[in-house]
Amino acid sequence: MLKFPIYLDNHATTPVDPRVLDAMLPYFKEKFGNAASRNHPYGWEAEEAVSMAREQCANLIHADPKEIVFTSGSTESNNLAIKGAAEMYKEKGKHIITANTEHKAVLDPCKHLEALGFDVTYLPVDKMGRVSAEQFAEAVRPDTILASLMFANNEVGTIHPIAEIGKICKEKNIIFHTDATQATGKVPVDVQSMGIDLLSVSAHKMYGPKGAGFLYVRRKGPRVRIAPIFDGGGHERGMRSGTLNVPGVAGLGKACEICKNEMSKDRAHALALRKIMHDRFFNELDFISLNGHPEHRLPGNFNVSFAYVEGEALMMGIKEIAVSSGSACTSASLEPSHVLRAMGVGEDAVHTSIRYGIGRFNTVEEVTYAANKTIEAVRRLREMSPLYEMVKDGVDLASVKWTSH
Ligand SMILES: *Cc1c(COP(=O)(O)O)cnc(C)c1O
Repeated sequence: MLKFPIYLDNHATTPVDPRVLDAMLPYFKEKFGNAASRNHPYGWEAEEAVSMAREQCANLIHADPKEIVFTSGSTESNNLAIKGAAEMYKEKGKHIITANTEHKAVLDPCKHLEALGFDVTYLPVDKMGRVSAEQFAEAVRPDTILASLMFANNEVGTIHPIAEIGKICKEKNIIFHTDATQATGKVPVDVQSMGIDLLSVSAHKMYGPKGAGFLYVRRKGPRVRIAPIFDGGGHERGMRSGTLNVPGVAGLGKACEICKNEMSKDRAHALALRKIMHDRFFNELDFISLNGHPEHRLPGNFNVSFAYVEGEALMMGIKEIAVSSGSACTSASLEPSHVLRAMGVGEDAVHTSIRYGIGRFNTVEEVTYAANKTIEAVRRLREMSPLYEMVKDGVDLASVKWTSH
């Protein structure tokens, strides 16, 4: 039985795994204590849950539990990492490197720092959305203190060469932050072998609750220091004051544990479903293009542009499927995708791009339905498109002289 609309927007958020919910419920009910209360069992059992979650989070990324700082999610983790490191190392230099396909939760803190006198390089990406290690190395300056490069892109799924860039950062003494919100739990993320100093994670992108996440902060080789954004009770070793969201933290920990144990299964599942959609689309439709990198890509990401259809009409035609479009992607603002633009995707293709985000709970029936619906809608819209007719008849559109009346 299909449930409508079919949810294929797992990069925007994921449903909570029932096992995660079960791990959270006691901390809303009988185990409601404050993890900072040292004098009674209510506090102790909350602290026990937090400490178990710290271990589960650390295990997923090959870190030490002491290196996990709980936050409200990746927007906060990114702000804390970028502003906190900039503040702490500003005497050493004022140059920061990032890329122009980053999430707004990285771009906006960088803009904030520019207004304070920092100098930010926004690296361009190639057609597949990637920054190369060589290109990164060329951008490094003697006064570079921080680099922030996302692990995997939330719109097109492209994965950057993180380990190579981490190595350059180590050699050049640059603090390396990565927004790993989309990658963590989906593909192997290892802060040791990849030379990562700061890493942002959000629970709700990995089958955990909304409003919970963490920032990994390296303690050895080098010991990374960040200035806090909140002043208060000195929780999380002074880096993030505020009473911990104990149910959220317990859920985040459980979500990390499940992702670690089931990563290869989840990955194979997402790849199989993506292949079904990919094969159907590319066998049955012409004039479509895959956005993002064919190999260096998140398993659950499938982002396609359909030429010779109108974006709005296409979205209307597939409203039984919950997806995102490049014309108003992911953010609360209604601007066309800055990611697709940075990749050099043309204005028309941006507006007809659809992001299918496949997750743990999607089924073969669902993606088959989504493929059928999309193919049907694209065909129907093209039947009404004079441009498509002309192209099919072999007219070179570039050679057509358009006149207005
Ligand atoms: C979702 C997302 C964020 C924001 O995370 P929240 O926990 O929702 O604040 C940041 N970066 C990327 C890449 C994301 O996908």
